Amino acid sequence: MRVVLIGAPGSGKGTQGVVLAEWLSVPYLSTGDLLRDQAADGTPLGRRVAPYLDQGELVPDDLIFDVVRDRLKALEARGGYVLDGFPRTVSQAEEADESMPGGLADVVVYLSLPDDVARERLRHREEGRTDDADEETIEHRLRVFHSETEPVVDYYRSRGILRSVDGDRPPEEVTAAVLAAIN
Ligand code: AMP
Repeated sequence: MRVVLIGAPGSGKGTQGVVLAEWLSVPYLSTGDLLRDQAADGTPLGRRVAPYLDQGELVPDDLIFDVVRDRLKALEARGGYVLDGFPRTVSQAEEADESMPGGLADVVVYLSLPDDVARERLRHREEGRTDDADEETIEHRLRVFHSETEPVVDYYRSRGILRSVDGDRPPEEVTAAVLAAIN
């Protein structure tokens, strides 16, 4: 099964994605983790993307496609995937849907979360992420989510493969709801 997880920063995509991938026995891919690793390692790609990550801006689509194109094909050959953080814009979704046979996803799970709960969670996140460090960057990421990524929710809703799950609950309850939603 090929699953895409969409949600505001702080909505629990990473936590849920890992559990879901294990449950489905498919690989989990977080574009945010991947980009952060590249940035931390100082690779050529990492040096190009680091300023976007730090400012809470989206990395340009062509760079993202360089990163995910081959990986998606390889993962699909392993029977599916759980994607966390991709696609982030309607143009990414459209391009990915065209490039993958049968589209990018069988089901898209949207973890909904009120902004103030997202703010509160991001302020207390313990990973020491530089893009969680200050209020202004957190606000910017929420704005980017609403303007760029929420339209992706509507895009998949209109394709009939969207499942919405209330993310404002304890993680185990969200997991149960996610599993129910994909079955
Ligand atoms: P995340 O861990 O999913 O919150 O992603 C962290 C950061 O990585 C984002 O704020 C963006 O700068 C970048 N990023 C991750 N995925 C994408 C994507 N699909 N398109 C553009 N930028 C992305």
